Amino acid sequence: MRRALRTGLAVSLLAGCIVPGEGSLARFEFTESHMGTPCRVVFYAAGPGEAERARRAAFAELAAVDERMSDYREDSEISRLSRRSGVGPVPVSEPLFEVLSAARKFSELSGGAFDVTVGPLVELWRKARREGRLPPPEAVREALERTGWTKLVLDPAARTVCLERAGMKLDVGGIAKGYACDRALAALARLGIRRAMVDTGGGMALGDPPPDRTGWRIQVADQSSKVLVLARRGVATSGDWERYVEIDGVRYSHIVDPATGVGLTNRILVTVVAPDGMSADALSTALSVLGPERGLRLAEDLPGVEAWMRWRENGAIRTAQTSGFAALLEP
Ligand code: ADP
Ligand code: MG
Repeated sequence: MRRALRTGLAVSLLAGCIVPGEGSLARFEFTESHMGTPCRVVFYAAGPGEAERARRAAFAELAAVDERMSDYREDSEISRLSRRSGVGPVPVSEPLFEVLSAARKFSELSGGAFDVTVGPLVELWRKARREGRLPPPEAVREALERTGWTKLVLDPAARTVCLERAGMKLDVGGIAKGYACDRALAALARLGIRRAMVDTGGGMALGDPPPDRTGWRIQVADQSSKVLVLARRGVATSGDWERYVEIDGVRYSHIVDPATGVGLTNRILVTVVAPDGMSADALSTALSVLGPERGLRLAEDLPGVEAWMRWRENGAIRTAQTSGFAALLEP
């Protein structure tokens, strides 16, 4: 199996490779912008016709998740739901209910470190980033009152969501990309394309591996030579290398600690491997907030989860990983 040439959007192998029981497969790669970020879909298919159908199906899933769950869009289902906070249970779509249910599970698992009700705090820190000025403590206090995963009440039988306080705001930015990857991968599988991966920049879902390989090769985030080899898993990276604000020499991340209402300042970088993309995405955010000690302990406790971290402590860069992480690396 040789590497494909990169030519524009679609990349295919000129000489296809024969896989027993699967016929001749060629590699295809497409990139499109969704959810405010370049998203990449790579898969093996029989030919350009099949690949084109697959491309459309995969990106349609990413577009649908964005349309429904973007808090940047006034008319998204999630924005409409947030505007109805404090008014009682509101019926929601199945996808939104699924994401919010998972979010609640990860809130419980992480002791509230992961919390999709951080919208009011994220808003404050976005403003801080624009203005280069810290939010006033009373504004943080006020936003904290409108935050808290226990105020997010789900009723599975009625499929309703109740945001118990007025002025709450949901933000699924820490979980929706991973969910979108899973949806896109499932759409490809429905078309019979199982050797596939979907990458939304930070969050990925991996299907069956490329022909003749045991897994997809995924670079660990620290630009080191570490390469993960993974199949049928999710993997995600969180970190503050791009979206942060530096004020008085302190860097505040776009990830907020719901316990304090303050953007993270520990310069943490986390890569999480999990059974699916949504879990990896949520856990990468959760572990960033929890920090090395509590974060790695949580990852050790969860089946099918491994994690690697880099952070700053007393001016020095430190790294640590779960006990099973090394086994996932390319020798
Ligand atoms: P990225 O978006 O950089 O891939 P993450 O998956 O870590 O990184 O998600 C960060 C986003 O999650 C933030 O931009 C914000 O929308 C949201 N967020 C911030 N703090 C939290 C938190 N404590 N729990 C859940 N989501 C959060
Ligand atoms: Mg995340």
